[in-house]
Amino acid sequence: MVGFVPDGSIMKTFQGIAVSPGVVIAKAFLLEQFRERIPHHEVSGEFVPRELEMLEQALLDARTSLEEDRDRAEADLGREPAKIFEFHLGLLSDPALMDPVRDRIRNEAVTAAFAVSEAFSNLADRFRAMGSSVFREKTRDVLDLERRVIDHLLGKSQDRLAEITEPVVIITHEMTPMQAASLGETQVIGLASDFGGRTDHTSIVAAALGMPVVVGCQFLTEYIDEGDLVILDGNSGTVVVQPDEETIEQYRRRVRRQEETLTSITAASDLESVTLDGTHIHLMCNIEFPREIEAVLKYGGEGVGLYRTEFLYLSRTTEPTEDELYEQYANCLDLLDGRPLTIRTLDLGADKFTQQQAMEPERNPFLGLRSIRYSLQHLPQFKRQLRAILRASAIGPLKVMFPLITTMTELKQAKLVLEDAREELEDEGISTGSDMPVGMMIEVPSAALMASSFARDVEFFSIGTNDLIQYTVAVDRSNPRVASLYTATNPAVLRLVKAVLRAGKRRNIETSLCGEIAGDITYTMLLIGLGLRTLSLVPAQVPRVKQVIRRVDVKQCERLARKVGSFDSERRTLKCLQDELKTVLPELDGD
Ligand code: PEP
Ligand code: MG
Repeated sequence: MVGFVPDGSIMKTFQGIAVSPGVVIAKAFLLEQFRERIPHHEVSGEFVPRELEMLEQALLDARTSLEEDRDRAEADLGREPAKIFEFHLGLLSDPALMDPVRDRIRNEAVTAAFAVSEAFSNLADRFRAMGSSVFREKTRDVLDLERRVIDHLLGKSQDRLAEITEPVVIITHEMTPMQAASLGETQVIGLASDFGGRTDHTSIVAAALGMPVVVGCQFLTEYIDEGDLVILDGNSGTVVVQPDEETIEQYRRRVRRQEETLTSITAASDLESVTLDGTHIHLMCNIEFPREIEAVLKYGGEGVGLYRTEFLYLSRTTEPTEDELYEQYANCLDLLDGRPLTIRTLDLGADKFTQQQAMEPERNPFLGLRSIRYSLQHLPQFKRQLRAILRASAIGPLKVMFPLITTMTELKQAKLVLEDAREELEDEGISTGSDMPVGMMIEVPSAALMASSFARDVEFFSIGTNDLIQYTVAVDRSNPRVASLYTATNPAVLRLVKAVLRAGKRRNIETSLCGEIAGDITYTMLLIGLGLRTLSLVPAQVPRVKQVIRRVDVKQCERLARKVGSFDSERRTLKCLQDELKTVLPELDGD
């Protein structure tokens, strides 16, 4: 169960979904851009002219900042995308919207902030109520503009993160992956949100920053005030607001224990990743940014099994050039110092949008123009990335893989673009690696079921269970309301994983797994038992998974996989995996 757990005191406990382990105790910092309410507030008559003056100044400032943003967008992205700002500018100078605001301040002596907030909220409601989705989409623009004007009125910075001056826990309704990526350079030490799922991209990025993360708390932002003390427990998915002394002390002890455990397992980072019977289980890492390679090396990762390259495109308004991409990839290879790097081509769409994509919202983005589908419809961009990858393949061990392949045609098209890029480079006399392995991710049931056909055309498979689960059980991986259905223990998911492994073995190609379950020790024995010998996971999870690997033997894991394979219930499977894990890691009970 997620949500609020009443306990009768000022202290409140919320149960969410644990995403990234660790416990922190710090003040809450609310990052709530759209849900902040402006209270109804009247001023005495003498201050009405001042409120009117403040309104005009705020409108002027908002106009100036919009024009600056528009000019920047036009220079970076071109004239078409910059047009979005014309709608905002038009609204600001629309007398039908702004005159009633002025009248209300004059006649009712309300504050400018309240009058603006009311007028924009009403307009947003009207757009929301329109039948056409085009108008409904305008709601976000209206609320965005409201925020901009109010920020100018109240003198707030657009970027609240810049206000953080001490270690804090961010509390938010929902965050985009791009916002999560920007937390790395701040003093944020934890994150909790109302929305979100264990494996959505915001969670993945936040977890990669190494801080405790809890998502899907549902009503947290309604019960918490900025500055409240919170305990964030990323192990159990608990958030305690305004804890009492006894609870703080209890958690402090837990933090100390956690630090000791972490030190001891990290100290074991350079031990070999082998089972008791001597089978090597390769532990590669998932990264989103080259800077994470430091963690790959620190925690004993053998290389990068999944580089999610799209993040470079999200955190900026212009598309990176081929040279910039090349430099990024070359830098990764350099940092990896001979260890392999697997680059996944762009996985844009679904919950990761470039500025341009955000302007053309889709009704069901996870089922829409996402990933390889997007790349194949944006060939110049796709080819730029492939050229950069090919150039980098000349300087180190690099593999490339295509995400979300659903049909044979897509795979063939993607490979054709790759070949085309290679020929172009050869014609230009630019060197490329001669034997870069080309693989694909298995993330949808159609690919899993057709794996033996796909295996003829690729040199490796990487199973992406984060998506494979959501597309098999028809559950949005970011929706906390249906999170209990989203599980790799679903027998249908396990059968698909098995089918892929079987196909890969028959065709003699390597199959690895890079979904989040690769880093979850509950699954380690099962994955080995199913036949996986390469896993790719979050760097900080490597020591824990290795600890399990070093305490089991393959036969024991195969027995477990056979046993679990006979279950048709996910609960039974989960219970069986947890019980088996406790036999190899009895100390878990004390965590
Ligand atoms: C997956 O789907 O399992 C995967 C690794 O890709 P992502 O999490 O980036 O969608
Ligand atoms: Mg995926």
